[in-house]
Amino acid sequence: MPGGESLHQAPEDGPYAVVGGGLAGLAAAEALAGAGKRVVLLEQRAELGGRISSFRDPGTGWYLDNGQHVWMPCCTELTDFLDRTGIGDLVHVQPRLRIMFLERGRREAVLEALNLPTPFHLLLPFLTFPPLRPGERAALLRGLLSLKRSGDQLLSEGEGMTFGEWLAGKRQPARVIECFWEPVITSILNQGVDEVRADLAAMALLTSFLAGKGDANLAWLSQPHGIVWDRVAGVLEERGVSVRRGSRVEGIELGEELAGEHAGEHAGGQAGARGGEPRAIALLLAGGERLPVAGVVTAIPPGGLRKLVPAGWRDASPFIDGDGLDWSPILNLHVWFDQPITTEPFLCVLNSPLQWIFVKAGQTPGGGRNPIPATAQHLDLLVSASDRFLGQGDRQTTGLLLEELEAVLPEARSAQLLATTLVHETRATFRAVPGSEAHRPSQQTPIQGLSIAGAWTATGWPATLEGAVRSGRAAVRALGVNTT
Ligand SMILES: Cc1cc2nc3c(=O)[nH]c(=O)nc-3n(C[C@H](O)[C@H](O)[C@H](O)COP(=O)(O)OP(=O)(O)OC[C@H]3O[C@@H](n4cnc5c(N)ncnc54)[C@H](O)[C@@H]3O)c2cc1C
Repeated sequence: MPGGESLHQAPEDGPYAVVGGGLAGLAAAEALAGAGKRVVLLEQRAELGGRISSFRDPGTGWYLDNGQHVWMPCCTELTDFLDRTGIGDLVHVQPRLRIMFLERGRREAVLEALNLPTPFHLLLPFLTFPPLRPGERAALLRGLLSLKRSGDQLLSEGEGMTFGEWLAGKRQPARVIECFWEPVITSILNQGVDEVRADLAAMALLTSFLAGKGDANLAWLSQPHGIVWDRVAGVLEERGVSVRRGSRVEGIELGEELAGEHAGEHAGGQAGARGGEPRAIALLLAGGERLPVAGVVTAIPPGGLRKLVPAGWRDASPFIDGDGLDWSPILNLHVWFDQPITTEPFLCVLNSPLQWIFVKAGQTPGGGRNPIPATAQHLDLLVSASDRFLGQGDRQTTGLLLEELEAVLPEARSAQLLATTLVHETRATFRAVPGSEAHRPSQQTPIQGLSIAGAWTATGWPATLEGAVRSGRAAVRALGVNTT
């Protein structure tokens, strides 16, 4: 057994601790509280939400999201989590899928679901999708039907190939890839079709566009993320969860228990050298506090996880597994205009480095070096898989995206640009490339009373909000806690 454990016994009556206040951690805390456990949630930052969070912009004084987040009703566990924490009123869900597309030099085009039985509600709109010529529309329809037919095979065998290879096999024309497959896949998986694993790309499409009516409607939060998570934290606190912000966990102390001591309650395990089972018994916090615990769910990124376990465990699976994942960036450029330049809630841009334009709402300006009035129109210009902008100066990136905006929305030329703020998340999602599944461990660990969560762990989903919630709940079950 790897070393580094103490001989303390596990405190049976201690709280369950969740390390990390991102969505996986919030979901784990909610599930533990729902199972009647005492819970402490420890987040190192002042803001909850992790990769979906907000910050007060010192320049404009606005409370800004780190990046626009969108999901679909096929994200059932996420929807359930949002319902259970009582924030359904802060979620906007389209009554039916409707996306307006813009493209430089072309007329705007709308894709809108029809009131028809599935799959015709979406297949027929694709047949008239204006950016494509008739032959290209037929090819797209063939591609979609082929995906629907060979979906199960792709899900089980597609981990070793890229989605681009599958599309090539289906002879999808370049323009169909440019106008449909590439924007859809890049938006959902934060990677282009030539890089992303075919199984996860197929899974994303089969559960949304090719699933039931309404499964692909777009949903988003109508308030800054930070406001939403503050409300979730309030609900969790009412259920007895102690939410500790600014609490950085620096280590997990292990003790041992006799094998079988918690038979039926704790699954799995590895016998220790002294005949006992290694077991998480306390957390070591920055500042020197030692927090005795009955069990721990870590919900933090892989690099940080390795540092929490005693030295002898750091190179052991599953703690080292996630280090093999590579990460993909997402860029969001916040811009403010003195007058509205669009009345759409969002727009999708084709064949441009600028992929989406979202109108932001519910912002609460306050202070800032260059205050922006609340009457300004606030837009978020979004670039997924933004590798090409890494290492490029903010001014150059901002200039290029504003030029693209003016090219597709001429109203931007006559409005006055008041301010811009660029946020580049360089480790937004792990890269779901062929072979990456080997680096996504399950939530269970060989240490009793310790399980791991995070959208990067094995969930069957890509790095999404849905994956994060699923991982948090699975990690609670891996501790042997009944969540039904
Ligand atoms: C810009 C951007 C846009 C995205 N868009 C979408 C989208 O549209 N749809 C979608 O489904 N997904 C999207 N994603 C992905 C999604 O946000 C993530 O998959 C998900 O939020 C990950 O949640 P998590 O809880 O697993 O991890 P994280 O959010 O990384 O949470 C980990 C938390 O642990 C804390 N922590 C770390 N170490 C410690 C420690 N030692 N002690 C205490 N706390 C610690 C961190 O501060 C953080 O709060 C996007 C991501 C980004 C960055």
